[in-house]
Amino acid sequence: MAYLHCHNCDFNQDDYWSEDGWNPVKSFENDKDTLLNEDLDETVRMDSNWLREHGRESVTRRDLVVLHLRQIIARVEGMVYRTHDELRERNPDMRCPRCGERELDVD
Ligand SMILES: [Zn+2]
Repeated sequence: MAYLHCHNCDFNQDDYWSEDGWNPVKSFENDKDTLLNEDLDETVRMDSNWLREHGRESVTRRDLVVLHLRQIIARVEGMVYRTHDELRERNPDMRCPRCGERELDVD
């Protein structure tokens, strides 16, 4: 997993686009036992912090699937660098693509 982020602004990128490594699609696959359950409208127990963060009193499996897919869409839409090699080639100075400062970092 690669977490690109800027120390100067809120730019971040969670994954690269690689079949072998961590990628947005794989994150869904890892949770498929929870998400691809037959009972789509069953209420799923989540901790109170999670519910508060998402502004909900309860959540169904259908809600979780939709949220997860929206996260995947956002990650794909916001992906600036498809691979770590592309990051090194296009941005050897590690300048943030949003604010332009040399504050880009990879964890
Ligand atoms: Zn920045």
